[in-house]
Amino acid sequence: MKQTPKTVLQHYFGYDSFRPAQKEIIDAVLQKQDVLTLMPTGGGKSLCFQIPALLMEGVCVVVSPLISLMKDQVDGLLANGVRAAYLNSSLTTEEQDVVESKAIKGEIDLLYVSPERLVSQNFLYFLDRVHVCLFAIDEAHCISSWGHDFRPEYTQLAQIKDQYPNIPCIALTATADRLTRKDIISQLALRNPRIFITSFDRPNISLTVMPGKNKMRTIEHFAKERSGQSGIVYCLSRKSTEKTAEKLQKAGLRAIAYHAGIESEERNKRQHAFIHGHIDIVCATIAFGMGIDKSNVRWVIHYNTPKNIEGYYQEIGRAGRDGLPSQAVLFYSFSDIILLREIVEQSGQKDVQKAKLDRMQQYADAFTCRRRILLHYFNETLAKNCNNCDVCKNPPKVFDGTIIVQKALSALFRLKEYVGTNTLIDVLRGSTRQDIIAKGYHTIKTYGAGKDISPPDWQQYILQMLHLGFIDIAYEKGRTLYITPQGKQLLLKKQSISLVHVSDIAQKIKEREVAKQRTTIVRQEAVPLFEALRKLRKDIATEEQKPAYIIFHDATLKELAEAQPTSEEEMMQVSGIGHKKFEQYGALFLGKILEFTENTSANNNQFVTA
Ligand code: ADP
Ligand code: ZN
Repeated sequence: MKQTPKTVLQHYFGYDSFRPAQKEIIDAVLQKQDVLTLMPTGGGKSLCFQIPALLMEGVCVVVSPLISLMKDQVDGLLANGVRAAYLNSSLTTEEQDVVESKAIKGEIDLLYVSPERLVSQNFLYFLDRVHVCLFAIDEAHCISSWGHDFRPEYTQLAQIKDQYPNIPCIALTATADRLTRKDIISQLALRNPRIFITSFDRPNISLTVMPGKNKMRTIEHFAKERSGQSGIVYCLSRKSTEKTAEKLQKAGLRAIAYHAGIESEERNKRQHAFIHGHIDIVCATIAFGMGIDKSNVRWVIHYNTPKNIEGYYQEIGRAGRDGLPSQAVLFYSFSDIILLREIVEQSGQKDVQKAKLDRMQQYADAFTCRRRILLHYFNETLAKNCNNCDVCKNPPKVFDGTIIVQKALSALFRLKEYVGTNTLIDVLRGSTRQDIIAKGYHTIKTYGAGKDISPPDWQQYILQMLHLGFIDIAYEKGRTLYITPQGKQLLLKKQSISLVHVSDIAQKIKEREVAKQRTTIVRQEAVPLFEALRKLRKDIATEEQKPAYIIFHDATLKELAEAQPTSEEEMMQVSGIGHKKFEQYGALFLGKILEFTENTSANNNQFVTA
């Protein structure tokens, strides 16, 4: 039978249908066109070159920036019965020789290499002896200095088109901004590339922003409710990854820290443990994740506010690649913003970075559907509210906050500005702290005028004022507050200002997120079988020393548990089970399902007769 993209999809990968754009991309590649593919993380980029590689005569050379990423993809492909291999420094010379000779003999369909390797003279000599059908450049944004993961080695990839002008090239990335896009095309010298941009929407990831209060307790609670599920906690500093991991461990959770300061062998070990499900939670700096192709990460928490939306979106995109419900929670706090602004002040592209941070802040602050804001940021419009973000689920109440704003502005004005937030709040609340009295702050007119509002609520209102542009922070003067021209105007003429009931909302969000909104992956009645299948998968994974999801994805287990197939035919209908997988694991899982269904019906009978 003649193979088509569809039959390859079904036979090797066990999927029924293509995701948006996959088929069009594959067709373009098969017609030997150059292609640029922009798809969000988890969108299904890999199949866009893996399927052509299986259909075209010759070897597809895949450039991939990280060794761990290569290994993961190759392991996944081998498990599906695809002839794949990688060449990198983790192999011995002998092992490399074996791979090279297989490639020359055409016994490999996909060969993964690092960018450094690809442009090395020796490799290019070797490549001359290989029948190459396609070049695939994964994480292609690394070629652009505009992007956020710039890797100088990538810039030499332009040589490929010089040497192999007639072999098609597909570049893939999850970074969408226009400058990067243009850069990729020109740097790789793609010829009249077809450009495919799929929606960046990841509707299965719920979006939540929480005030940065009681963070540890919230995370603990959150993770305990999801025990056995994989999650990532992103922290700003190395130290806080360690502190967070330690606290979670103390709470009995299987967590570890991960950051660039940890020695690389140990880092690999930790990453491996996460991928293989030996630990559930990684507390990491953003150094973690780029090389992780784990499909069943159920949640991502940002312990600290991120510095831009691009990075944030990519990080939360690591959740729910299997398409099942997943959660992204961001802790938003004023102190993080101040710290990030300081970092930005010292950075190279100060203006750009600052503007990006502002957007991040606006996002966290907003009371419109968060997904609409994010997608709008990536030049996409969502026509409706998403109903899967905290704002949609709990639309805020606003109130007339004019008096509050005026009290704060007036106090700040009388304090001759340039006091920090805490001092301002102390004055507003009539604190009798010694230095307040010593400086005579207790004599100003608004001293004690805000007694009725708690300090944390004041923090929140002041934050809102900052976002509304009435006050700003003087970084050069010890991060003190001052009134902007807009704020001064407000002091002069009455104008009503809406504030959001922060304490109210913070409370609501917290309650809802922590107590009620559990991720229900599987239908209630299928949970016991799902757990049994998970256990079976875990045992097999341990025995074969493979990550569990290489055996079957969560999505496949879910379908198995819900559909309860009892024959080979029925089982092959389940998404994610191709021929190779069925051969290897089909009988074991069928056995488990049958055992389970028989037991339950026996129990039911007993119940009826009793
Ligand atoms: P990306 O590289 O874009 O982040 P991947 O290629 O790793 O995404 O794909 C993400 C997940 O989606 C993988 O688990 C993959 O097996 C799955 N997937 C890809 N295409 C399909 C499809 N057509 N049907 C079902 N699942 C798919
Ligand atoms: Zn929404």
